[in-house]
Amino acid sequence: MDLLITDTLVVTCDDERRILERAAVAISGDRIVAIGDTETLRRNWPRHEALNGRGLAVLPGFINAHTHTILTSLRGTVEDWDGNAVYSYMSPISYTMDDGERAVMAELGCLEAIRSGCTTLVDPFRHVPAYARRMAAPGLRLWLSENCADIDTRRIRFGEYAVDEAFGRTFLDRTVAGIEAFHGTENGRLRCQIAAHATDNCSPAMLRSLLDLASKHNLTRTIHLAQGADEVAAVRAMHGCTPAEYLHREGFLGPDLVGAHWTFCTRSDIELLARTRTQMVHCPANSSRRGPHPVLIGLIRDAGITISLGTDNMTEDMFQAMKIGQIVHRGGRGREKELGVTPQPQDTLDMITRNAAGSVGAAEEIGQVRPGMKADLTLIDLNQPVMRPLIRPVANLVHYGHPGIVHSVLVDGQFVMRDRRVLTIDEPALLAEAQVVTRRVWERMIAANPDIPPPPGGLRWFDA
Ligand SMILES: [Zn+2]
Repeated sequence: MDLLITDTLVVTCDDERRILERAAVAISGDRIVAIGDTETLRRNWPRHEALNGRGLAVLPGFINAHTHTILTSLRGTVEDWDGNAVYSYMSPISYTMDDGERAVMAELGCLEAIRSGCTTLVDPFRHVPAYARRMAAPGLRLWLSENCADIDTRRIRFGEYAVDEAFGRTFLDRTVAGIEAFHGTENGRLRCQIAAHATDNCSPAMLRSLLDLASKHNLTRTIHLAQGADEVAAVRAMHGCTPAEYLHREGFLGPDLVGAHWTFCTRSDIELLARTRTQMVHCPANSSRRGPHPVLIGLIRDAGITISLGTDNMTEDMFQAMKIGQIVHRGGRGREKELGVTPQPQDTLDMITRNAAGSVGAAEEIGQVRPGMKADLTLIDLNQPVMRPLIRPVANLVHYGHPGIVHSVLVDGQFVMRDRRVLTIDEPALLAEAQVVTRRVWERMIAANPDIPPPPGGLRWFDA
């Protein structure tokens, strides 16, 4: 749309990290065409619809660089369970669902993401082509990928790590089907990545096939890297090295690869990852649920690695990711006096804007408020208690922000939420449907997998 947001506070996240007061942002179609002084822009764009931005801050739309929206189906269940939830619950529940059920849970994730100020989700998962269009309908910008594996992720919880070529082929086929069906569609809003699920479920042959696909289609890549102790032990048993060393040996590291987590990366792994300019996506809130995330984040930052933030499982709340991330990142190397207090709030905000845009190769399109960029914007309500006093707006936002301060969200120059009303989703209907679907899926999963216990405390279904 053609829109002029006037008299507002613009947190640009541009190269100078400028914060402009009483400024205006002009949007034509799907692009930002100008930012600057309100009176000048009013004169230059007289026919644009005016939105009074007094009391609001305009920021680049938040980018969740690693999430799995469908796993909202596990919210409130396994967070407090001490075991390998990836293979004991996440894989089984994803296979239990049908495509319609997957679409409902993905839409629930999109709704929460919009209310949390997100404009972009990077979501590697399974069976993606069947629900990608429905997931795109609420209007978010998406990088989707089929999380490929050729070791059956349904058997790993029984300690079985046999390579199954046919199993792997289905993922490669779905990867190609996704690229052909939707990559670059919806005005470029819906795109693909290449995803290897994890280092313990992809053989060298699978990694090679994925490298070929990435190079053939010119796509960025992602993988879960050293997420769990079980993964590290399995890779050691199969390949005789660490997960990072295994990927290096297979030629899989590089600047176009984003590794999630790095929880058990060693000092020499970090040197290797830095040398190959591999990027990191960190999910500090999710990874800290059972205690502060033990990742060597200070060393990772010292090594100059580019870090983006994600939420991973059961939440789309990027405020939580920033808040907990900042704490984890400040504590990850001890508190040596000469280091000062780092990262600073703007560094943390960069991790969900500029850095996250770079993680999917889109640093020239999204992640900043400047002319020429896509009009993906998050509008924050400054008339909220946590935003006063207003002295360092980014500090308020990172230390104290929460989804309740998000006023409006635009993607591609279109409002998906305006003045707190989500325009693209029937919220009451979706919330009711998500409860029904989740109950059905949990009951089916437990009936079909007698070894999977109900979560701690059991499954009691409350009416809302
Ligand atoms: Zn993940």
